[in-house]
Amino acid sequence: MQYQDLVKVYEALESTASRLEMTQILASLFRSTDCSHIKKIVYMTQGGIVPDFFPEKLGLADKLYLRTLVAATGGNEASIRDLWAREGDPGTVTQKVFENKKQTTLFSQPLTLDRVYDALLKIARAEGSGSQELKMRLLADILHDAKPNEAKYIARIVTGRMRLGVASQTVIDSLAQAFATKADKPEVERAFNITSDLGLVGETLCKKGLEGLREMRVRVGNPIRAMLAERLPSPEEILERMGGRAMFEYKYDGLRVQAHISKDAVRLYSRRLEDLTNQFPDVAKALREAFEGESAIFEGECVPVDIDTGEMLPFQEVSHRRGRKHELTEAIEGYPVRVQLFDCLYLDGEDLTLRPLPDRRSALTRSVSITDRVRFSEARVLDDPAKVQGFFQEALQAGCEGVMAKSLNDDSVYRAGSRGYLWIKYKKEYRSEMNDTVDLVAVGAFHGRGKRGGVYGALLMATYNSEEDRFETVCKLGSGFDDATLAALPEKLDPYRLPKAHGTVESKMEADVWFTPTVVLEVLGAEISISPIHTCGHGKIREASGLAIRFPRFTGAFRDDKKPRDATTTQELVDMYKKQLKRIEG
Ligand code: AMP
Repeated sequence: MQYQDLVKVYEALESTASRLEMTQILASLFRSTDCSHIKKIVYMTQGGIVPDFFPEKLGLADKLYLRTLVAATGGNEASIRDLWAREGDPGTVTQKVFENKKQTTLFSQPLTLDRVYDALLKIARAEGSGSQELKMRLLADILHDAKPNEAKYIARIVTGRMRLGVASQTVIDSLAQAFATKADKPEVERAFNITSDLGLVGETLCKKGLEGLREMRVRVGNPIRAMLAERLPSPEEILERMGGRAMFEYKYDGLRVQAHISKDAVRLYSRRLEDLTNQFPDVAKALREAFEGESAIFEGECVPVDIDTGEMLPFQEVSHRRGRKHELTEAIEGYPVRVQLFDCLYLDGEDLTLRPLPDRRSALTRSVSITDRVRFSEARVLDDPAKVQGFFQEALQAGCEGVMAKSLNDDSVYRAGSRGYLWIKYKKEYRSEMNDTVDLVAVGAFHGRGKRGGVYGALLMATYNSEEDRFETVCKLGSGFDDATLAALPEKLDPYRLPKAHGTVESKMEADVWFTPTVVLEVLGAEISISPIHTCGHGKIREASGLAIRFPRFTGAFRDDKKPRDATTTQELVDMYKKQLKRIEG
């Protein structure tokens, strides 16, 4: 396949904001593609080269990219820099530089998909001394043969800014359309949810059809997309929803990990499917020692503990470990953690995801012997609201956020990758009328004035509308930042800067600066109100109005463990609004 054919599809995708059209464009591409290319196309269209949980990452530093571009095109560095500052997007800059290039390249070979893919993979894998030069050489080699529109997308993917706006859901829809029917979408979804590898799902569908897809199983080493909880504000409502009885567990305030244990290795994945093994080698070791079987997939929450008292510490303590490459040994000693296991998704060759919770819990407790570092989540089966309230208080006393209620019914499967009422969270904030924390995505910013001159004064925050795959604004967030955080915000956000609002962002406000929705912040609001200027849940409560969070305050927690599409959803906020209203009225 020629790379140009894929680039033509990218251009078509970029020229439409309609998800339906995107789906059709992709479906017809998949239909006309040789099965051996599907994987690569799926990964690359989403801005990667491998599934998210693989270690290979693109994201070449801008400086290095610029140097390569200058060397490969003979362009003038200062004017390219200028153009970059104006455009803010390496893709557009590169395309322009290529279009202005005087001489056409001699001995140019049209680029194939395989050649571009191989080069990108080698770039991502280059490590250690001399790797910068190697990356530059590999990149220059493909740029040498690239047409301007091809160079544009090479620039974007290699710098980690593909941003075609193609969400996993769109790829799933197109795969179903291309190789099965719309009605088979849930099967495609399930295959993705248990493997977290859309490329593999696409390839399997192409090669073996629906039959092949149905045979896909949970595998040790392929993270399973996390099951998520709904929320309800009272024990009564929770019990009613659960059929009068449920298992209640402490809701620990830590970091969710999914542990994949095989004979020769233990790998740990975050809720975002990042490989955390290198940051928690002590947890991996402790799990290996506590586990008595051959292979398993467990889920649990890593919580920081005081080594002397065994008591839990605030979540912030775990975050000291994250992203650390150096001084890890010190971090391990300085910030000890314990893992509280709460689920077992696979045990010794058997996929347990479709088994009810009591079976999974018993698989967990019979295959693990607890140690100082490995425990089970504190759990109790309850059917009385007063007892639930008592257990909830006990959880808070122990330093937890609240409790998780889990269905024990026959249908209480592990619903990978989806949020539902089989698990319901009951957190302390729900007790006070309007003191909920929500996880919002930064989609824009406003320049600071006065004391805050030179830094961002406020961020434009959004919820995620999962039905429309859109980010909808819900507040301007300016409080709760200390000076150091405020000063560090540009560094955190500017890599995602855009000249105009991102295609998935729905805003009536004009921000000074826009971002690709990426960074998630935890926000504490005082109340939710009707708003004519925010787009969250537009028209759902009142015509021509949306919802806003009043008096929002940053809690200090960047939710780096959440992707933008894991943020609080518009639907959740609409529900919270309705519940809040009920309580005021009642
Ligand atoms: P939230 O992030 O508020 O949507 O709550 C869901 C998160 O609670 C999960 O992703 C886990 O990280 C965490 N959690 C803590 N304790 C438990 C538990 N016992 N069962 C399930 N999840 C838990």
